[in-house]
Amino acid sequence: MSLLVVGSVAFDAIETPFGKTDKIVGGAASYIALATSYFTPKTKLVAVVGDDFPTDFINTLNQRGVNTEGLQIKKGQKSFFWSGKYHTDMNSRDTLVTELNVLGDFDPVVPESYQDCEYLMLGNLTPAVQQTVINRLRKRPKLIVMDTMNFWMEVAMDDLRKTISMVDVLTINDEEARQLSGEYSLVKAAAKIQAMGPSFLIIKKGENGALLFHGKEVFFAPALPLEEVFDPTGAGDTFAGGFIGYLAKTDDTSFENMKNAIIYGSAMASFCVEKFGTERIMNLQEDELLARINQFRNLVRFNMASL
Ligand code: AMP
Repeated sequence: MSLLVVGSVAFDAIETPFGKTDKIVGGAASYIALATSYFTPKTKLVAVVGDDFPTDFINTLNQRGVNTEGLQIKKGQKSFFWSGKYHTDMNSRDTLVTELNVLGDFDPVVPESYQDCEYLMLGNLTPAVQQTVINRLRKRPKLIVMDTMNFWMEVAMDDLRKTISMVDVLTINDEEARQLSGEYSLVKAAAKIQAMGPSFLIIKKGENGALLFHGKEVFFAPALPLEEVFDPTGAGDTFAGGFIGYLAKTDDTSFENMKNAIIYGSAMASFCVEKFGTERIMNLQEDELLARINQFRNLVRFNMASL
């Protein structure tokens, strides 16, 4: 099934307890599109960069089967830049710099060849732009998944609420779920957020896994305990890419299948954090991914006679 990805394609500068990078390629849609490319050969990208962005990375996306017809390259302008610093626990970070640059006046173009998309992944981006992409699709996709972050809650809450009301699945982290709902309990937060529109909500808890809510139903997936976490940047996006990629591949949007999709998303994210930036998810082998899925199976499987 064809899958449209929209989101930031950017430069990041990252500082973790293990090291520091100068400007490297990042951006929500970069991670998402790389992740979805392992599930479907039909990923289509809508994004914008400046002419400072490396063509090598665009070529890598193309080699992985990602269609970049909808990636605008703005002459004489700079790409979006984000810089963040992780705390020692790696579960929390501070944003040091957000320079919107080309994202400031991004007018997304949805090429004609993208109009058939059945799955839409709205990666982290200006909420009004996410909304424009939905509106520019003549036929509503079968499933719309949206990711966002606290930054947009602070600068564009009204637009954010409107976009949230238009999607089927929202993925956010626990802190953001509390900020968006005003509730500390994640169960109460989930009920309030579902009342805003999305019938499915995924709350990401970093190294503590992820929760999937749908009405009164809840599913929990752990994160894989890893020996080394090098850089968590993009883990949420890679998770989202694995999640929607698996749903598009299996073409089944039931709650039961979303449980499997969450495990695939978590497995993809577990690779992402092992190296800085997008490096680790550029060239994964299928057997590595399947081995991780099995590790997840073993992690939560136990035999207990019923009481
Ligand atoms: P994650 O670690 O999954 O939350 O995503 C990190 C990625 O999000 C980085 O590669 C950044 O370039 C990108 N990012 C950070 N802030 C924003 C923002 N306000 N809008 C869009 N993308 C962002």
